[in-house]
Amino acid sequence: MAYQTINPYTNEVVQTYPNASDADLQAALATGDALYHDWRHQDRQQRASQLQAIADLMRQQKTALATTITTEMGKLIGEAEAEVDLCADIAAYYATHAEALLAPTPITTTAGKAYIIRQAVGVLVMVEPWNFPYYQIMRVFAPNFMLGNPMILKHASSTPACAAAFAKVVAESGAPTGSLTNLFLSYDQVNTAIADPRVAGVALTGSERGGAAVAAEAGANLKKSTMELGGNDAFIILDDADWTQVKAQAVQARLFNAGQVCSASKRFIVMADKYDEFVAFMKAEFERVQAGDPMNRATTLAPLSSASAKQKLQKQVEAAIAAGATRVTGATPIDLPGQFFTPTILTDIAKDNPAYNQEMFGPVAAIYRVDSEAAAIALANDSSYGLGSTVFSADPAHADAVAQQIEAGMTTINRPWITAPELPFGGVKNSGYGRELCDLGLNAFSNEHLILNAQA
Ligand code: NAP
Repeated sequence: MAYQTINPYTNEVVQTYPNASDADLQAALATGDALYHDWRHQDRQQRASQLQAIADLMRQQKTALATTITTEMGKLIGEAEAEVDLCADIAAYYATHAEALLAPTPITTTAGKAYIIRQAVGVLVMVEPWNFPYYQIMRVFAPNFMLGNPMILKHASSTPACAAAFAKVVAESGAPTGSLTNLFLSYDQVNTAIADPRVAGVALTGSERGGAAVAAEAGANLKKSTMELGGNDAFIILDDADWTQVKAQAVQARLFNAGQVCSASKRFIVMADKYDEFVAFMKAEFERVQAGDPMNRATTLAPLSSASAKQKLQKQVEAAIAAGATRVTGATPIDLPGQFFTPTILTDIAKDNPAYNQEMFGPVAAIYRVDSEAAAIALANDSSYGLGSTVFSADPAHADAVAQQIEAGMTTINRPWITAPELPFGGVKNSGYGRELCDLGLNAFSNEHLILNAQA
C-alpha cells in the first residue's frame, strides 16, 4: 500500500511517500525504549512544558495545519481549524491536569499502608484513521506522553502529510526524539512492532476489520490493546422532546465532516406522530447543502475522503435500496470532479436489510418510525455496534432513565455527539473496547502498581 496524498476535491496526486524500512522501525523501537527508561527517572514537569508548547505551536500554526487536512482528506476548512483547536485544547489539558490525575491512590486495608501509583509501561504503537487526522493522534499522544510511554505512529496511508505535520510540531516543541516517531509502516511491520518485547501495547482507531486484525496480533503477543471502532449511533427523539432543539441539531449530527464521524448520529428514531414532519424537515435540510471547494467558507458539503470511500458508500446505499429501503432524497451524482456524495435519507429499512446493522461512513441518514418508547430503546440496542447515542427529551429525569438503558459507551442528552479533553471516548460491542481521554484514557496503558508496606 502506498502512502499518498490525493486531494479528494481535485483528484490530484499531491505527493507519494516512501515506506519505512525495517531498519527505520528497529531504530524507532530502540530510541523509544531508551526514552522510556530515561523518562522513568524524570518527573513530569518538563513533559508538561513540552506538551503546553505543542498546544501553543498548534494554535500558532493553525492555518497551515488545517490546510494540510483539507488538502489531504477534503474536510471543510472551518472544521479543519476547529480540529486543530481541539488538539491544542487536549494538549493543554493534559499538560495542566495529568499530574493530579495520575496522583497515587491510597487503599484502606488491614494488610498495612497501601497505595497505587500509575507508571508508564513502555513503547506503544498507535494505528490511526484519516477522518480526524490530528485529533485521533492527539487522543493517544497527550495522555501517554504525560504518563511516559513513547509512541510509534502508523497513520492511515491516505493522510501521510498530516502524520508528518503532527510529528514536526512534536519535534519543534523540544520533546525528545522518540516521543512520537511517525513511520510509514506496512501491516507486516505493524505486526513486527507489536510482537517486539520493547512494545507494551497498541491503540487502534479504525474499522472492525483493521481492529480485529491488530487486536489478534496484540492478543497473540499478550500485549494490551484499546480498540476505537465504528458506530451506528441512534438519535432517539422522545415524545416530550423540545423540537426547536431537535431541529437545531439533527442535521449537523449527521452531516458534520461529510458524515465521516464514528460517533455521528446515523439512525434517527422518531415516534410515529412526528415521523412525517421529521422526514420532511431532514429532506429539506439535506437538499439545502452546497457542495464545493472545501477551502471556500461558503461550502457546506465537503467531498468524501477518497474515491474508494465514495465507491463503498455508493454500494451500501444501492444494496439498501435493492433490499427494500425507500430513498427519500440523495444518492444522485453531483456534477463536480471531487469525491462528493449527495446527502441521502433512507427509510423503511427492515431488519433483514443489510443497512439495518451496518455503518455508513458518509452523509447517509436512516430514519425509523416507532410506536413506543420501549420500541425506540429496543431498536437502538438492536445493533452489533455500541459507540455513542443521543436522547432528546425536555424532562431531564426521563432522558436519564432512557439514556441509562442504551447499550453504548457514550450517551448525550439534548445534543449530539461531543468530544472534549476531560470526557472519555469509546464504545462497547463491535465498537471496540477501552477508553481514550479523561483519566480512563490516561490509565489505558499504565501499570497500576500496588505498593504495600506491611509494617507501616
Ligand atoms: P481502517 O481501514 O481500519 O484503517 C484505520 C487504520 O488502521 C489505518 O491506519 C489503516 O492503515 C490501519 N489498518 C487497517 N488494517 C490494518 C492491519 N491489518 N494491520 C495494521 N494496520 C491496519 O479504518 P477506516 O475505514 O479507514 O476508518 C474509518 C473507520 O474508523 C470507521 O469505521 C470509523 O467509525 C472508525 N473510527 C472510530 C473512531 C472511534 O473513536 N471509535 C474514531 C474515528 C473513526 P491503512 O490506511 O494503511 O490501510
